Amino acid sequence: MVIIRQQLVDSIKKVLFILGSALLVFVAARNSITWHLQKFWGASGDFWQSQWENVYYLLGSEDHMIGIVGTFLITTGIFWISNAFFMLLDLTGRPAFLLRYKIQPDKNVPLEKDALKRAIGVVLFNQTVVGIPFMCVAYLAMRWRGCSMNGELPTFHWVLFEMTVFTLFEELAFYYSHRLFHHRYLYKYIHKRHHEWTASIGLVSIYSHPVEHIFSNLLPPFLGPLLMGCHIATAWLWFCVALMSTTVAHCGYHFPFLPSPEAHDYHHLKFNQNFGVLGVLDRLHGTDNMFRETKAYQRHFLLLGLTPVSQQFPDTPKKKAE
Ligand SMILES: [Zn+2]
Ligand SMILES: [Zn+2]
Repeated sequence: MVIIRQQLVDSIKKVLFILGSALLVFVAARNSITWHLQKFWGASGDFWQSQWENVYYLLGSEDHMIGIVGTFLITTGIFWISNAFFMLLDLTGRPAFLLRYKIQPDKNVPLEKDALKRAIGVVLFNQTVVGIPFMCVAYLAMRWRGCSMNGELPTFHWVLFEMTVFTLFEELAFYYSHRLFHHRYLYKYIHKRHHEWTASIGLVSIYSHPVEHIFSNLLPPFLGPLLMGCHIATAWLWFCVALMSTTVAHCGYHFPFLPSPEAHDYHHLKFNQNFGVLGVLDRLHGTDNMFRETKAYQRHFLLLGLTPVSQQFPDTPKKKAE
């Protein structure tokens, strides 16, 4: 009982921390960021508005071109640009000094070419055969909800507020769908594919069964924009953030100044811990209890220096056999 109450308190604390941070940025931004934008780009609102109008014009001034083709290009582009960097690093081992940030240092060195090719095939299938029809339906749903495709852009503060809401909705939808896919009736048919990689690489973020791709990868980040009826530009920004975040969570490296991937890396290693993105619901349901006893948990923080977390919290040496 005491443990459950503690989990509940910890979980609420995490949500408050997220809301509090968003509020802080909001207050700070009100005074400084908007002012700087204003100063450097003249009327900042006009600057972004005219950029958006250029994009709209470039895509033939058609809503469906923005909603479907634009969304496909921006999400696919961001995915491959961020993953190209990690693939080159994994394939060549260069730049070598980055290898000391590897979470499971003996895994994927070198990366098996056949496994990589298979992963690329599955990812491309998910992005096109599954992703494009999903985007068509998503576009119709957004039109029905009244999401703007070419109207006035929202203010910076509203974008920040919406992004916070999206983050919380994604946590809810991803945690529960992911946990459901771990159910013994579903796991071996659907989610097992994603877990073929016990040491993941960036690409593995959408290396999954098509059903899982729809319910765990596409729907959770789409829910927030749909419910809020946001501008499509805000949705694009959010999809890019979500894609980069999942790429980092799977990349297998704990780099400085990037969100810590330790929790999800541990999920791939042990299967029954850390189902969520933020960790809020894992705390609430106690699905991080084992993780919290590990070295990986001590290393699970935003690294702000250059010393790798594995050096700051080294593995306990295994006892030699007598
Ligand atoms: Zn994963
Ligand atoms: Zn899983």
